[in-house]
Amino acid sequence: MKITRILVYHVDLPLEYPYWLSGGRLKFEVLDATIVKIETDAGFIGWGEGTPWGHTYVPAHGPGIRAGIETMAPFVMGLDPRKVLEVERAMDLALPGHLYAKSPIDMACWDIAGKVAGIPIADLMGGGSRTPRPIASSVGAKTIEETREVIERYRARGYVAHSVKIGGNVGRDIERVRDVESMRKPGEIVLYDVNRGWTRQQALRVMSACEDLNVMFEQPGETLDDIAAIRNKHASPVSLDECLVTLQDATRAANEGLAELFGIKLNRVGGLTKAARIRDVALAHGIDMFVMATGGSVLADTEALHLAATIPDDNCFAVWACQDMLTADIAEGRGPRNKNGHLHLPEEPGLGVEPDEAALGNPVAIYEVTS
Ligand code: MG
Repeated sequence: MKITRILVYHVDLPLEYPYWLSGGRLKFEVLDATIVKIETDAGFIGWGEGTPWGHTYVPAHGPGIRAGIETMAPFVMGLDPRKVLEVERAMDLALPGHLYAKSPIDMACWDIAGKVAGIPIADLMGGGSRTPRPIASSVGAKTIEETREVIERYRARGYVAHSVKIGGNVGRDIERVRDVESMRKPGEIVLYDVNRGWTRQQALRVMSACEDLNVMFEQPGETLDDIAAIRNKHASPVSLDECLVTLQDATRAANEGLAELFGIKLNRVGGLTKAARIRDVALAHGIDMFVMATGGSVLADTEALHLAATIPDDNCFAVWACQDMLTADIAEGRGPRNKNGHLHLPEEPGLGVEPDEAALGNPVAIYEVTS
């Protein structure tokens, strides 16, 4: 089987509410999504998506995905999409780095492989748990009152897991953590996500002041070095996501004990093929996981759900579903949707959800076998 054609679509996905990253910085309202359709000579079709969480969040750029695909397409064309490692190597040789540009192609190849095998991607990866995964909310950095309001809004939709964004102001961060803890219900999972918004002294002050609460902080510094520097000075468990990019990041974090939770972002790490290795490093080191796309439609959420389903139930904290934050839906009514705060793995072969092609508009690029 050979890849014969790659169609690339650009779709704007408006957010229901404008979003502020931690510390009130970086407001944005629309996500730039790239949807990829891979066609084969055997008639199988695969769908992939790459949607960065704005272009100010991490080094990932919506138009950069489309430019990256233009560069990589000739090297991927003609390969067997079921041989995901060969496709991965071809992309890595054609364009070192730029992992976020690779994830939609990797995803579409896994979709095809699953369809050919007649089983969901998670099963093809070695076994997918059918235990529904809790969806974590994303509670933007706001005042105490607004934080309560947003959490209640998610609770009304059945959410039991929350990622509360903090950072940037020591006093306000301590107040918000204490307030959310005071309203936390039994069984609720809350992660305080700093999104790199603290300097080392800020991190130590907030984490020390909240030590009695026994809470977990995500990405409490900019880099692995920042997180390592304060590691032995506080008692709080730490989750890493933004600086968990390569397998080398994962092995360093595991060996040096820099994190107790890995937040694996599929678009950030370059797709399912690369993410599966990070998952295994985590499992081998007693590190639990939280899986998410970096943003996007139900397609991206579903990809994350497949990886989450390959993690033992006890080690998988939650997934994130960006779809609930959007006002546009490219696969209306299809694929895994919020059911009382959880996502259920689809039973259809491959990814288990396809977009409505009419919602994608015309392709912005088409690459095909020329000879
Ligand atoms: Mg995070």
